Amino acid sequence: MFCSILSAAISGVEALPVWVEADVSDGMPQFSMVGFVSSQVREAQDRVRTALRNLNITMPPKRITINLSPGDLRKEGTRFDLPIAAAVLCSLGRLPADAFSGMMLLGELHLDGRVGRITGVLPSVLTARDRGCSLAVVPAENLAEGRVVEGIRVIGVRTLKELIRLLVDGELPEEEFCPEPAAAAADLDFGDIRGQEMVKRAALIAAAGFHNLLLQGPPGSGKSMTARRIPAILPEMSTEEMLEVSRIYSIVGLLPPGQALIRERPFRAPHHGITAPALCGGGMYPRPGEVTLAHRGVLFLDELPEMNSPTLEMLRQPLEDREITVSRVGGTCLYPASFLLVAAMNPCPCGYFPDRSRCSCGIREIRAYHARISQAVLDRIDIHCEVPAASYSDLDAPGRDPVTSAMMREKVLAAYQIQKERYAAERFRFNSEIPPDSIDRYCPRTPEARRMLKQAFESLGLSARGFHHVIRVARTIADLDGAEQIGEPHISEAICSRNSDGRPGK
Ligand SMILES: [Zn+2]
Repeated sequence: MFCSILSAAISGVEALPVWVEADVSDGMPQFSMVGFVSSQVREAQDRVRTALRNLNITMPPKRITINLSPGDLRKEGTRFDLPIAAAVLCSLGRLPADAFSGMMLLGELHLDGRVGRITGVLPSVLTARDRGCSLAVVPAENLAEGRVVEGIRVIGVRTLKELIRLLVDGELPEEEFCPEPAAAAADLDFGDIRGQEMVKRAALIAAAGFHNLLLQGPPGSGKSMTARRIPAILPEMSTEEMLEVSRIYSIVGLLPPGQALIRERPFRAPHHGITAPALCGGGMYPRPGEVTLAHRGVLFLDELPEMNSPTLEMLRQPLEDREITVSRVGGTCLYPASFLLVAAMNPCPCGYFPDRSRCSCGIREIRAYHARISQAVLDRIDIHCEVPAASYSDLDAPGRDPVTSAMMREKVLAAYQIQKERYAAERFRFNSEIPPDSIDRYCPRTPEARRMLKQAFESLGLSARGFHHVIRVARTIADLDGAEQIGEPHISEAICSRNSDGRPGK
């Protein structure tokens, strides 16, 4: 007897439909599995056989063939255990053959028949709905995640027995009430940072135009404090963005238990010793890297010059294209990677240059330290900001009201609104993304601003790239100012945010 059940495989950040087919026939007793499956999927036969035996269901001495189609799509992981078990039971006549129409089934199976949590439930349920399924049965632990998808019924099962009862008698599994954890209030506030007004200003401009930011300063000057506070001044994510991000976290299994949606913009801060696959995605079983986990949020790279330089160079593609290509068995896959890069570095290897009472690094050493970051990477960072060590008067200034995140966020939102309207008909969304050929159209300059730009171009030796950076940043500064045209003060501030065309410390 033959049986076929719909399930799904993950490829990139998409879930693709997979049919799990089982056939039981007379012949040499054996259990075989075909259809471009990884060894992990192949091991399902042992889990299924044992789980069934523990339910007192013995497999008859027959020939059982499992096929996972389409055959050109590689299947990985343990997500097919449950549909395989169900398909076997169905073809043995233990489950009604029509039980699986309009249904998607996913789940890992433990030897004792418990159904285990899997990754990628959110995109899989989306695929089920889009293919017209009316029901998705998923592991109970993934239920909250599946229920995010509207327009399809989602049921969670804890054991294989519960699945059988559901399919045979229509008995619904008991549901544990799991309240959605309250959204953590952003408890990091720019108001906690005393002084450092220039740095806060740079963070504001970066957030307002989605400009990448490089912070350079001695240890303890507040570079990491600044970076951690940036997600909270970005606008809240739209529902579509939440789904986009949650889909990624679902695939890597990073959705917090019981939490269905990622509502806050991600903040990722990998260590500088990170490997290329961990940063950009890849590996034996390809999974998204930090650049994808930071999608729609902030990627903070501290101690940038300490990073392995081939790894650092790999950032060029996502910074340019806002997505990254990862090669895998049987082709490549594309992961989204639209993040705001906040990088930080010390001014010299010891960290205290130009304070010669503490720093004895040679000039050549300092140059070599800076040269570890290639010009190509620096070219993709619009704003370079020096973070001075906090001064005593900043720290001990009662009565002076600090700039808070709420104040900054209000300005960012206004600038976003302007960009949203201005670029409504474009492919890009932010000032930092204006292509060179559209700069004149979107960045009108006053005659004074043009004069100043010309002067800077000549005296600072700006490159064409540097020139475009200055104008894009000036566009954001003018937007924060509510100005239609870019004026002289906007250009002047933009030039200061980019000392000597990128190479700090020269
Ligand atoms: Zn030093």
